[in-house]
Amino acid sequence: MKFSWRTALLWAVPALVIGFFLWQGSFASSTPANMGRNAANTRMTYGRFLEYLDADRVVSVDLYDGGRTAIVEAVDSELDNRVQRLRVDLPGSSPELVTRLRQDNIRFDVHPVRNDGAVWGLLGNLIFPVLLIGGLFFLFRRSNNVPGGPGQAMSFGKSRARFQMEAKTGVMFDDVAGIEEAKEELQEVVTFLKKPERFTAVGARIPKGVLLVGPPGTGKTLLAKAIAGEAGVPFFSISGSEFVEMFVGVGASRVRDLFKKAKENAPCIVFIDEIDAVGRQRGAGIGGGNDEREQTLNQLLTEMDGFEGNTGIIVIAATNRPDVLDSALLRPGRFDRQITVDVPDIKGRLDVLKVHARNKKLAEDISLDAIARRTPGFSGADLANLLNEAAILTARRRKDAITMLEIDDAVDRVIAGMEGTPLVDSKSKRLIAYHEIGHAIIGTLVKGHDPVQKVTLIPRGQARGLTWFAPSEEQMLISRAQIMARIQGARGGRAAEEVVFGDAEVTTGAGNDLQQVSNMARQMVTRFGMSDLGPLSLEGQSSEVFLGRDLMTRSEYSEEIASRIDAQVRSIVEHCYDHARQVIRENRVVIDRLVDLLIEKETIDGEEFRQIVAEYTDIPEKEQYTPQL
Ligand code: ADP
Ligand code: ZN
Repeated sequence: MKFSWRTALLWAVPALVIGFFLWQGSFASSTPANMGRNAANTRMTYGRFLEYLDADRVVSVDLYDGGRTAIVEAVDSELDNRVQRLRVDLPGSSPELVTRLRQDNIRFDVHPVRNDGAVWGLLGNLIFPVLLIGGLFFLFRRSNNVPGGPGQAMSFGKSRARFQMEAKTGVMFDDVAGIEEAKEELQEVVTFLKKPERFTAVGARIPKGVLLVGPPGTGKTLLAKAIAGEAGVPFFSISGSEFVEMFVGVGASRVRDLFKKAKENAPCIVFIDEIDAVGRQRGAGIGGGNDEREQTLNQLLTEMDGFEGNTGIIVIAATNRPDVLDSALLRPGRFDRQITVDVPDIKGRLDVLKVHARNKKLAEDISLDAIARRTPGFSGADLANLLNEAAILTARRRKDAITMLEIDDAVDRVIAGMEGTPLVDSKSKRLIAYHEIGHAIIGTLVKGHDPVQKVTLIPRGQARGLTWFAPSEEQMLISRAQIMARIQGARGGRAAEEVVFGDAEVTTGAGNDLQQVSNMARQMVTRFGMSDLGPLSLEGQSSEVFLGRDLMTRSEYSEEIASRIDAQVRSIVEHCYDHARQVIRENRVVIDRLVDLLIEKETIDGEEFRQIVAEYTDIPEKEQYTPQL
């Protein structure tokens, strides 16, 4: 018969039961009754004991158990004055008894509490249930691990963090939208899994690893699940950050476990999220390498090399930082296919919205087009979240179907956070109103700025007031004039505060604006060659200091260039600020009127705003880039 854990356990359980009773038996006798050298099994009542004392028949008393039990030697007159040993339960430690014994000159002794017997007895009582529960749990787990067995998604692994297995993901390519190229590329992987012979027959090597590259929430996990779903194979997943543990060796053993399970269930998909957490360049980072990470990475490489292309395991990994990955991971035979999964464009957003609108009740007036237009930069996950927020709002308002009102509120909420309660009319409300109208008026009067969508004094998230601009689709090219316009618009808030209330009254409300301004200005100088410094590209795409790699190579330019960059940035920002203040001063009348209106209504929409401004001055034509659906 083949050895199997299940049969072994079936025998082990009765054996444990018998063992338990034997164990219990051996401890059952370790009660105070026989703590004396000679067992005294005959009991005597306390009252009787007192009578014996009065009758002077007691020879000796041995106190046990903190004075609660006594073994008494007494003379039995009825049995030829033979000495009997009797056990007496006492009502507690009584000093009077001791005094009495001394008075009567009775031999007595006090024995310390012997706990070990009791402890073992207790352990004996505990160990059995623990073993039994442990055994049953183990049995239960074994029987569930059978592929296709009852446990659909469950966890494995020797320690806390572990990997997940889904026998059937239930996700199909239809559920993934807006990333058509990636889907097409991955269609082939499904065929690898379903009909490997088609490839092996002509001598093609089936790829083992696919790297999905893209920002969070773009549907990388969803895509990997869809491959498993389409191919009808199990889906194993783990996050790279779970590998990186405090204890050296844990990560590596997790990788081993994962691949062991995967091999047992091949063909299958193994998905490793955030692979950069383990797969970062070896030996990089502050303070040298990280042993644990390197061991884990090495184990991963070993495992990937260890199985041949046709075992039917395809490893899909996801990352946002392919540039920091160890080159060994990207070598042929490992993650040699890279697929970019980016945030969807307007058409993609519409498709994602359609997918997530399937199970929602939408009112007639809802236009998914309009939502797609309003949401540039949203990832698939953001859009899913948006529709869900709108549905929650709808339920809260006790409506039957989601209307455009809920959608708009949900967009605002997803972008800017929770709505707060508006301030009561006060000086600071007035100041915030001038600040926001400042942004809006510059946005309206400076050519090249996106048009105002609405201005509001209803706080949201961190912001105490907000000016929304109609978002234009992320353009391929942005002109110098457009960036300058944005910087002026961002400075418009502070400019209005200063012009209206004076230099001493400006507030901290412009902190966020200033940050945006300096980012934009710095990029003009260092990346786009839009300053007097000339057409230099002084910085790479990412100016973020990344512990893995970039830190050491960051400052490619000298101190002198650095100070010239600073001077250029300052001059751009100053120039824009001057211009913004000038626009504010020239339009003070309409600004005052708009501020009064804003304080009264709390929100002014873009159309009304422009109508009022147009009564006083000409509004430049906006060449708004309207995306085609
Ligand atoms: P990632 O792995 O790239 O961080 P996920 O796959 O975990 O993103 O996406 C989270 C959720 O967002 C998905 O479960 C899905 O509901 C939604 N989502 C993201 N991208 C898409 C997409 N392209 N199509 C449909 N839904 C998407
Ligand atoms: Zn502002």
